[in-house]
Amino acid sequence: MIELKNFICETCGVQYKCSNDVPEKCTICNEERQYVSFKGQTWTTLEEMIQEGTYRNTILSEDEGLYSLHTKPNFGIGQTAYFVKGNGFNLLWDCLTYLDQSTSKEIRDLGGIDAIALSHPHYYSSQVEWAEAFDIPIYIHEDDKEWVMRPSEKIIYWSGESLELHEDFVLHRIGVHFKGAVVLEWRSGNNGKGTLLSGDIVRVVADRAWVSFMYSYPNFIPLPASNVENVAAKLEGLKFNLLYDAFHRVIEEDANIRVQASAKRYMDALNGVLFTT
Ligand SMILES: [Zn+2]
Ligand SMILES: [Zn+2]
Repeated sequence: MIELKNFICETCGVQYKCSNDVPEKCTICNEERQYVSFKGQTWTTLEEMIQEGTYRNTILSEDEGLYSLHTKPNFGIGQTAYFVKGNGFNLLWDCLTYLDQSTSKEIRDLGGIDAIALSHPHYYSSQVEWAEAFDIPIYIHEDDKEWVMRPSEKIIYWSGESLELHEDFVLHRIGVHFKGAVVLEWRSGNNGKGTLLSGDIVRVVADRAWVSFMYSYPNFIPLPASNVENVAAKLEGLKFNLLYDAFHRVIEEDANIRVQASAKRYMDALNGVLFTT
């Protein structure tokens, strides 16, 4: 009997639709915003990962109603996802490949999840496993539909520039890095001052007072000036004091002001204003 499996690419952590053999290649990694490991393409499955017993998820309290989720040791891209408790509506922002019984139990004990929303394809991971485990919908911008490797009835493709999931949670299409790239504005976060969950659409850099934006992070491909101006304009009107990115980096205060200053610095760099050499 042929056993169908949902294979997972070990470099990006994205799970594929059922097949009896490994996919020919990973669509997500064979593209300049990701990369195929120099060791070659390798695959696993969630069942194998659970059986190996190598991985576990840590869930840490970050701020009132905000928890970070991370797989240890790092798997795939190594991103952090966030569990956000709104007023009567709990959201999983971005996702992890690894999901086991103890993670599900821990999240249920925290109140469970009502929906998953994703910033962009690099974190689609095993989103369908999570959606099925909690019987909840997944919100993805329709402009990134072509990057969904495991289709599911759980996925709701939304369109336009923003979507209010709940009075607390608004998704905004920012459209850099990926065409359908999205950030989450959590209006009541940070005690009402607002929190932005930015995926890697906006990345906090080594100097935590600044952010940057890239077309490709692993391959260091920057954005054109028109895109940088666009991000700044779209984010300026959003309400956030605190910003969390997909790699657990934080801007703890005046994050909106810091994003605007960072966009200006980026433009200065593109225009050669920054340089004296
Ligand atoms: Zn991949
Ligand atoms: Zn990315």
